[in-house]
Amino acid sequence: MCSLRCSQCCVRLGSSNVFHSELRDKLGLVLGHLRSQKTGYSWFLPDITFETQGKGAKLQCMQRGDVVAFLAERFPPSLAEPWDRSGLQVGPLQAPCQTVAVALDFDLHWTSCLEGVDLLITHHPLLFRPLKQVLPETPLGQKLATLLRYGTACYAIHTPYDVAQGGLGEVLAEMLGLVNVRPLAPRGRLLKLVVYIPTDHVDGVAQALFAAGAGRIGRYGHCSFRAAGTGTFLPEEGAHPFVGQVGQEEHVAEVRLETIVPAERLAAVLAAMRTAHPYEEVAYDVYALENEAPLHGLGRVGDLPMPASAGEVAERFAQALGCSVPRVEGEPTKEVRRVAVCGGSGGELWRAAHAAGAELYLTGEMGYHHRCAAVEAGLVVAVFGHRETERPFVDHIARLVAERFPALKVVKG
Ligand SMILES: [Zn+2]
Repeated sequence: MCSLRCSQCCVRLGSSNVFHSELRDKLGLVLGHLRSQKTGYSWFLPDITFETQGKGAKLQCMQRGDVVAFLAERFPPSLAEPWDRSGLQVGPLQAPCQTVAVALDFDLHWTSCLEGVDLLITHHPLLFRPLKQVLPETPLGQKLATLLRYGTACYAIHTPYDVAQGGLGEVLAEMLGLVNVRPLAPRGRLLKLVVYIPTDHVDGVAQALFAAGAGRIGRYGHCSFRAAGTGTFLPEEGAHPFVGQVGQEEHVAEVRLETIVPAERLAAVLAAMRTAHPYEEVAYDVYALENEAPLHGLGRVGDLPMPASAGEVAERFAQALGCSVPRVEGEPTKEVRRVAVCGGSGGELWRAAHAAGAELYLTGEMGYHHRCAAVEAGLVVAVFGHRETERPFVDHIARLVAERFPALKVVKG
């Protein structure tokens, strides 16, 4: 039995807790965080979860669900196209996680190397159409049997990765060195959050809201409007007011803080608000907005820092992707500045590329008729292959997971 005291609480680690030596080594890290935290909260460290519960404490090995929660925050499942089957394909998630594999697809070769892998993250979903049979002699049956045999969970981030801010479109735009990047087929929904905060706590609550994803308008962060006023309330029996007393009407100097929240961030923002706000009952309102919100969307369009010939740009992109240079259709020698890009199957987006003023459109797959129509409209087009343009998913996701969870073993497929 040992007791550890921080500035705000006493945390007791019971003798019944058996720590792996690795976890014990991380205890110093935990305690560093503990000094700056209140009791009753939990937070994630790179590879373990530490929870304080009243005056008791427990350490847990990292769970697969922790990795999935991290990815779902970056690439919210709510952004999935209606036809998509992203998300958890095969469980369980509530199990320890030491090794994660990242792949574009669950190819058959994975069936011989999944042993020891706790979580397989793929771009394309393994289960896409409803199953009627699971036959072990079929490729799908073999894959499912392998996952179940080794107890490996499988999670797909398909269209949420394609459309989210910081997803595939932006990775490809970065490879091209584009600036002024915006979605080719923009979509997104904004909400207005209004919260009433006692004057002394405004900055703390505002910072918590911003950190959780509120207050971003274009290239401006921390956007809010604040107006001072008076809040009133009468605490009833059983209430534990932060200011005032039960049975006595209070008038408090408060600030009405307004900010903007992407719909998919609302739950995280409200949770952050409740944690940072001193009141037992937080007075807040969420309003639906009609504003356009080009936050996410398939494809990206942007400008090259310096104009270059379409053929040269296509060559540079192929080099960055590590694939061969495809035939450039239209005028390969045309000097271009505005370039649109869409990984995977982006044939139909050529019209959006044209409408956005792009001179060159780079994509993974494009049907014959779309190519003809795009070239006739004056676009220069180069098609690099579905797999080739989505392959950056593997390095990108593996890097994000490894950076967030440094103790994890991350395997790329
Ligand atoms: Zn794809």
